[in-house]
Amino acid sequence: AVTPLGSSVIPIVNKLQDIFAQLGSKSTIQLPQVAVVGSQSSGKSSVLEALVGRDFLPRGNDICTRRPLVLQLLQTKPRSEGGSDEEWGEFLHHNPAKRIYDFSEIRREIEAETNRISGENKGVSDNPIRLKISSPNVLDISLVDLPGITKVPVGDQPSDIEARIRTMILSYIKNPSCLILAVTPANSDLANSDALQIAGNADPDGHRTIGVITKLDIMDRGTDARNHLLGKTIPLRLGYVGVVNRSQEDILMNRSIKDALIAEEKFFLSRPAYSGLTDRLGVPQLAKKLNQILVQHIKAMLPTLKSRINSALFATAKEYESYGDIRESRGGQGALLLSFLTKYCEAFSSTLEGKSKEMSTS
Ligand code: GDP
Ligand code: MG
Repeated sequence: AVTPLGSSVIPIVNKLQDIFAQLGSKSTIQLPQVAVVGSQSSGKSSVLEALVGRDFLPRGNDICTRRPLVLQLLQTKPRSEGGSDEEWGEFLHHNPAKRIYDFSEIRREIEAETNRISGENKGVSDNPIRLKISSPNVLDISLVDLPGITKVPVGDQPSDIEARIRTMILSYIKNPSCLILAVTPANSDLANSDALQIAGNADPDGHRTIGVITKLDIMDRGTDARNHLLGKTIPLRLGYVGVVNRSQEDILMNRSIKDALIAEEKFFLSRPAYSGLTDRLGVPQLAKKLNQILVQHIKAMLPTLKSRINSALFATAKEYESYGDIRESRGGQGALLLSFLTKYCEAFSSTLEGKSKEMSTS
């Protein structure tokens, strides 16, 4: 599987989790949630799927996502560390829990479970579907796929469908630790973007909103998204990334994510309008941007981690004193271990410093 999201953060998070484990602490690194917002069929589910690197979300040119899908990714030990390389999904509504190894079965279950609560006729519900995906290739993060904003009620939808969907979306993205991927298709007007509008409501300073422009491949002849990507149309603090996901035809023909990524790269190379913008183009760049933000987030948490280590060190040192001269005591060994850990943590912090510098300059 291709798993660009988190590939560079996984080793960092793993090291930190190891430190916590040594400290005997249950708490782990809490990574922010990532949610996709935008109008219906703008390509939200496609973007999430490409980031995870597996096919499992219902996608299509109609309303497919009709309940929020809270996707919790859980990292398992790879075979090289005594685990297995298997990847599976588990739905929280299954009792007893059931591991599903076939990702197309996961998609069918999302569809069936959507119909069960929201009805067969395009109804929308704010009751989320919760899915856990375990894999050695992901990092512990949760991603939220949300129904798109629509204006005209269809099927069994109530007349206030737009307001309901907006409230539902806001309930996720107003959380200050939620990163927002604001998805706008390139073949619609950026100034009319529902995604940028609702993201702007929840995050007016733009500290946690990344603009994603999809469907660069199906713009009007003679137009391109260069100015949008450069932030000249609507500026966005964290900037924009342009992507080409699979078309409906690609989906019908079962084109793989891997092939789609190759086609995406080829597309950008063949268009002079996008030359010199490589840091703003493609799903791998989007993943890289998310990685940088995650590294910043981890860095922001390091002081808390350090103070936790320090207080543990202090407590153990006290215990050590109370043992007097018994040098081989467990307390003494613990204090030694903790002082190593503190040093390690400091070294780690400076490595991270270097790492994020390297990422922002490359
Ligand atoms: P969502 O409703 O926002 O979740 O949108 P989906 O991910 O379900 O995509 C809606 C439709 O647009 C599907 O038929 C996709 O195949 C298609 N689509 C999404 N992104 C692109 C893209 O970048 N290029 C093309 N040609 N089609 C896309
Ligand atoms: Mg969708």
